[in-house]
Amino acid sequence: MTVPIPLIAGNWKMNGLAASLDEARAVAVGLGTFRGGRVAICPPATLIERLSRALAGGPVLVGGQDCRAEASGAFTGDISAEMLVDAGASLVILGHSERRAGYAETDAAVAAKVGAALRAGLEPIVCVGETLDQRQAGEALAVVTEQVRGSLPAELATDAFAVAYEPVWAIGTGLTPTIAEIEEMHVAIRATLREMFGARSDTVPILYGGSVKPSNAAEILRATEVGGALVGGASLKAADFLGIIEGL
Ligand code: PEP
Repeated sequence: MTVPIPLIAGNWKMNGLAASLDEARAVAVGLGTFRGGRVAICPPATLIERLSRALAGGPVLVGGQDCRAEASGAFTGDISAEMLVDAGASLVILGHSERRAGYAETDAAVAAKVGAALRAGLEPIVCVGETLDQRQAGEALAVVTEQVRGSLPAELATDAFAVAYEPVWAIGTGLTPTIAEIEEMHVAIRATLREMFGARSDTVPILYGGSVKPSNAAEILRATEVGGALVGGASLKAADFLGIIEGL
């Protein structure tokens, strides 16, 4: 039986200056000989190259937080998957709810970015998640499985990607779904991946994201079909991020 290798990824969002490299170095040192899974930090684009150099050869991977679907061109302010690779990234977060909401990113736009990321050699972490209104209306499962279908290119010929289930209402709020709700959603996402891509998708880790912290990480990471975590706020401090990784 094939099982996913767990992945814990930190999303620094628009936080971090040169001084923050020390927090990332502290994560690498703190991991020591940890072999329980893969660990990544996704800093703002301005820090990717410096972080990649600082962490080279160590246990922490570096990722981007978004990329454009096009490889180059007249797209002021944007960054391509090739540029992320060039700067030293090996992963990229795509379709985060803050981008879906703030930049009107559709599932189709996310799927185009996923294709571009894979072509450039990046491992996409594809985010999906329902709003509170959608959950309260009993639509969470339908909304999220539809996002999974729409945000992954149908012709995907690889298992080198991850899906992150991040309920929008749990991000940065301190609120989390119950373990039963997390498991229900992760099992549904697994079934959707199976339907789309067959058994080879069984190695795709399905991360949970939304107010993960050291005190709740172990319980969440033990839940059925939870293959790691996407961590926002608590990834900014090495001690907290390491406390979450210990939950694996
Ligand atoms: C996120 O933004 O991906 C996230 C999970 O944030 P937080 O951990 O702060 O809720």
